[in-house]
Amino acid sequence: MIVGIDLGTTNSLVAYYTEDGPRIIPNRLGKNLTPSVVSVDEEGNVYVGETARERMNLYPDSVAQTFKRSMGTEREYVLSGKHFKPEELSSMVLRSLKEDAEVFLGEPVTEAVISVPAYFDDKRRKATKRAGELAGLKVERMISEPTAAAVAYGLYDRTLDTRFLVFDLGGGTFDVSILELYHNILEVRAVAGDNYLGGEDFTEVMEKLFLQKAKLQLSALSEKEQVRLYRQAEKAKCAINDSDRVTMSFRYKEEALEQQITYKEYEEACEELLMKIREPVKKSLADAGLRLSDIDEVLLIGGATRLSVVRDFLIRLFRKFPDTKMNPDETVALGAAVQAAMKERREEVKEVILTDVCSFTLGTEVVVEYEEGKYEDGRFCPIIERNTVIPASHTERLYTVRDNQEKMRVRVLQGESRFARNNLFLGELNIDIPKGPKGQESIDVTYTYDINSLLEVEVKVVSTGEAQKMIIKGEENHMSEEEIKKRMEELAYLKVQPRDYEENRLVLLRAERMYEEALGDRRKKLDHYITAFEAALKKGDHDGIMDARNELNEIMEAEED
Ligand code: AMP
Repeated sequence: MIVGIDLGTTNSLVAYYTEDGPRIIPNRLGKNLTPSVVSVDEEGNVYVGETARERMNLYPDSVAQTFKRSMGTEREYVLSGKHFKPEELSSMVLRSLKEDAEVFLGEPVTEAVISVPAYFDDKRRKATKRAGELAGLKVERMISEPTAAAVAYGLYDRTLDTRFLVFDLGGGTFDVSILELYHNILEVRAVAGDNYLGGEDFTEVMEKLFLQKAKLQLSALSEKEQVRLYRQAEKAKCAINDSDRVTMSFRYKEEALEQQITYKEYEEACEELLMKIREPVKKSLADAGLRLSDIDEVLLIGGATRLSVVRDFLIRLFRKFPDTKMNPDETVALGAAVQAAMKERREEVKEVILTDVCSFTLGTEVVVEYEEGKYEDGRFCPIIERNTVIPASHTERLYTVRDNQEKMRVRVLQGESRFARNNLFLGELNIDIPKGPKGQESIDVTYTYDINSLLEVEVKVVSTGEAQKMIIKGEENHMSEEEIKKRMEELAYLKVQPRDYEENRLVLLRAERMYEEALGDRRKKLDHYITAFEAALKKGDHDGIMDARNELNEIMEAEED
């Protein structure tokens, strides 16, 4: 079975296709969302999801989150003294989802369609693919998140030929895409976005407001206090959606601080972020050659689109109410599952033909004659331009620039800069050409880029017909099978916890955290129930464990209120 995975910045989900359509697979804790958080302890035990997030409060040095933002970069995360790349951390999330899916479906899961932000460049997509490989998942196809959303939506309401604007504001990334569904062909017309804007920025605004009002400096807080403050800010951010004010509380040096923040204050403080949202919307419309009034449906995806300040802003911007029929957290995973079913050629999936757009420009380096006899080299010549619908194939003819030139070199580059050196180098081809006066001989350079992000480059000498071809899968950033196997073995020392214990561990962590935060009698009471639970765990009697766990949970719930 091929599953669909939404590997999100904040949360990840896995879904599969059933006769009744795509469905989310609950994780080992029975939840649909698995936080994209990883923790590794001193002994090399790996924790993923809610358990890892809970460890953030107690052991901040052992936890990594929002690593999706750094996918495809050389950044390293240090967890309990061990070093990890973003794709390795992502692979642990994927491994956890894979396991949950296998238990739920009762069969091995070895292949997945994974969604990526439309704005992810080649490097980031390759890193995502590698993360899948490290988790033991074959990832032949990736689907852009907005495409996945539209696929899920398109199946939901298939009567329409529609122009969508997919507005995706997740935890850490922002994407706008314009898609057109016409006679079952779903075409991405344009994408734009901001890799550094998301729900977390809105949490930070809340946090700053609180600090201002409480006359506190963030730098004065310890790491643990900062984590707690952030958690409170996140809570307040979600609570302000339904009311005109919210009270945010925070315990600082045994003092309970409380501040009221009104919706209006919060909205004003978010003004700068809201302005940032406008730009990609404008850019995508311009790239697609459309106006706002041409859009039939605005789809909201990503958890941060639940924010009232964002929704109010969008209603003002689009002068219409966005579509909220589907759960913004789940749409992408459901769409990825549909795509997985299409890949399996499942009968039930009426084939929607997917096209995508190239989210960056692909071109080559050329020498430009800027004045008679004067040349400047190192310039970039676009061949497939950003936002071209793919699969696409384009040819550019290039001429010799010197008399008796014997070779031509085609450097394959990706990026938007006018100068070759500023763009990403993907590979190169060299071809021999017959001697002659400059400008007589020429080559046709053809780039063919497909929906699986494979770029085929063909160079053909026009006069002789001699040709050379190469396929680029991003060698520059590629790990060989062997390297992947080696790194998988290296990572194998990490002990993934048996899933049965997950819930117990989570309850204990939560209790420990609450113990740290409590004082006096509350602390004693918690200690009593924690000790009882630990004793039951040691004894290993199932009923006893369940009873003690339920009791501890009840106490904690009462405390949390
Ligand atoms: P995602 O990456 O799509 O899972 O989005 C996560 C972001 O959505 C985080 O910044 C959350 O704080 C935010 N979020 C989730 N639920 C809500 C809510 N009810 N109100 C406001 N923001 C939310």
